[in-house]
Amino acid sequence: MANERPRVLILGGGFSGVGAAQKLEDAEAEVVLVDRHDYHTFQPLLYQLASGLLEQTAVGHSLRDLVARQDNTVVHQATVTGVDLAAREVSFDEIAPITYDYLVFGLGAEVNFFGTEGAAEHAFPMYTLAHAVRLKDHLIKRWEAADRDPSIVEDGALNVVVVGGGPTGVETAGAIAELYRADFAKDYKSIPQDQARVILVEAGPELFAMFKPKLREYAAKALAKRTVEVMTGALVASVSPTRVTLKSGEELKAHTLVWGAGLQGNRLVQTLGLELQRGNRIGVGPDLTLPDHPEVYVLGDVAAIVDEKTEQVLPQLGSVALQSGEHAGETIARRIAGKKTKPFKYRDKGTMATIGRGAAVVQMLGGRTLTGKKAQLAWGTVHLALLPTNEDRAKAVIDWAGAGLTHQRVGRITVESE
Ligand SMILES: Cc1cc2nc3c(=O)[nH]c(=O)nc-3n(C[C@H](O)[C@H](O)[C@H](O)COP(=O)(O)OP(=O)(O)OC[C@H]3O[C@@H](n4cnc5c(N)ncnc54)[C@H](O)[C@@H]3O)c2cc1C
Repeated sequence: MANERPRVLILGGGFSGVGAAQKLEDAEAEVVLVDRHDYHTFQPLLYQLASGLLEQTAVGHSLRDLVARQDNTVVHQATVTGVDLAAREVSFDEIAPITYDYLVFGLGAEVNFFGTEGAAEHAFPMYTLAHAVRLKDHLIKRWEAADRDPSIVEDGALNVVVVGGGPTGVETAGAIAELYRADFAKDYKSIPQDQARVILVEAGPELFAMFKPKLREYAAKALAKRTVEVMTGALVASVSPTRVTLKSGEELKAHTLVWGAGLQGNRLVQTLGLELQRGNRIGVGPDLTLPDHPEVYVLGDVAAIVDEKTEQVLPQLGSVALQSGEHAGETIARRIAGKKTKPFKYRDKGTMATIGRGAAVVQMLGGRTLTGKKAQLAWGTVHLALLPTNEDRAKAVIDWAGAGLTHQRVGRITVESE
């Protein structure tokens, strides 16, 4: 009997893939969810993991757990290597190819170093759980090394250059500065904090280009209060393990360069044989399917979805990914049941970012803005809705309240394999 049900193959267990899978719970379908990891990553909190405020399980959630009560769904941990749209078949590194009746393509975005010399080898990107853990471990190891041999501080061992004046760069720079000034200042009392600089480098003329001027000014002040040094109009030309060289020729001593500057659609989009849009993204129709392939839904960061109201391509945000995933899941379930479907409509939740403890900015579609604690509360509310389960939401409220009250960074340890 099972073989008679149409197979829905979901590639990617991010916001879009999980959103689609959960909406297929009651569908008369065989749902197969594949991700290279066995967990879903909550990317908006990666910077809190990297700065020791949260632990891994607050940011990564078991994919099997997320669909555990769905009898029609299985999960495989495997790496997608290619998609044959004509044959309706997907190939993987570790398992046999899988054919599909419906395909959900939600493989997300990946870092773009824009060809910057040395960046792929030496930079610390901030897009995956492993990236966040690697950055945290590296920072702690630099401070432990400086504790053993203070002479390396002079060489920039504790300096961090963060590239990118968008939300990822600003959030990460703010969080690292708070980790340094609030925690490491006490942990490593003999090391002078003024020799541990956090420098935020942005190629454009301003930080937070997507926000109104008054929010940009607020962010600049909040960063300055946290001792983050901001360099705008500065382009990184090359990176080595201990130096960052700007296009102007200026050399910054820094053993850590965090890359929060650029994204591009997952490289697998190139296997589809389609014309791609800016940033390696795939253009989709109002129902989120590929032109000429009504059985293929492309969602989230990898899709160029045009908003029906503004006629602009929607930004690469968790709420866009989740809503597009849920829409695709619901639509496929309706098609299988022979019901009518509707085009995708995005419900804007505002653009927002945090800068540090009690400091955040929010800009709503109608132009309303918020800053400070109110903005942080709005950020929390919107991001709670993005969490995959009610248990996660309850846990996040406790974690965030605890961190807000004590500001203890319990995650600031490194665990080596022995
Ligand atoms: C640091 C950071 C902070 C952010 N902060 C915010 C924020 O505050 N608010 C907000 O709304 N958005 C934020 N975003 C954006 C948001 O996280 C993304 O828009 C969202 O995750 C996109 O969802 P997705 O499903 O398209 O892709 P993803 O969530 O990236 O999921 C893609 C999945 O595909 C899997 N995958 C990739 N390649 C393969 C392969 N070859 N084989 C198998 N599996 C594969 C990955 O493991 C991953 O699980 C942030 C992003 C980052 C990186």
